[in-house]
Amino acid sequence: MKITFIGTASGLSVTDRAHASLYIEGGGSRILIDCGEGALRSLLMQNIDPNDISAIVISHTHPDHCAGIPTLMQYMHLTEREKPLNIYLPQGVSSAFRKYFDQLYLLNEKLTFDYRMNDYTEGLFWRGDNLSIEAVPNLHLEHYIEYVERYRISAASFSFIFVEGDNSIYYSADLKGMVDLKPPSRAELMIVECTHIGIEDALNLAADKRIKRVIFTHIPPEMDTTNRSFEGITAEFAYDGMEVIV
Ligand SMILES: [Zn+2]
Repeated sequence: MKITFIGTASGLSVTDRAHASLYIEGGGSRILIDCGEGALRSLLMQNIDPNDISAIVISHTHPDHCAGIPTLMQYMHLTEREKPLNIYLPQGVSSAFRKYFDQLYLLNEKLTFDYRMNDYTEGLFWRGDNLSIEAVPNLHLEHYIEYVERYRISAASFSFIFVEGDNSIYYSADLKGMVDLKPPSRAELMIVECTHIGIEDALNLAADKRIKRVIFTHIPPEMDTTNRSFEGITAEFAYDGMEVIV
């Protein structure tokens, strides 16, 4: 698998990082995980053709993880994309997104390509030729549960495990805290957000679980991003355009 960090900012916008987005190539698939604002521009700056993306997977619907989708789709239309696009959204979100996209004139019958919105929930929800994606629920949006009925919204939020052959990569996306950090033992790589998680806490857990490499993303502006070691594991900090091969 090859991972390119497309956006590594936290929820607070900054000038040198786009909002959350990861590009995964593996087993013949090219998938964008999260698509925060600025993802399209960052993809172009990394010389990645947005029309190579076959699927977009959104961990949760905070704007810093999904607000880049409409502009990306507009680009696909203007560059006359033909191949279909699949968008995977947490369960309960797709009908609201469909209405929103219709009002943005991203109408299936007007676009040069077909797109499909798919709800996913806990467990294995995507399987390519040799790459699979498992969703692990987390409590990041727990504090919205009291609003779910009143506003008819979803409070679903997920972390992911990507598996290609014997290799697995864990991506936390956004969490409530350490209670949600659940990488599989001996994963090749753990990508962890560091807005809601302490660096030393995450490295401690990585050491316990024998995780081979840890990269922090979702980086707040005040974060010290110097590589540092703890419990024999080095904390690396992602930047837009960072590439990792696992
Ligand atoms: Zn976020």
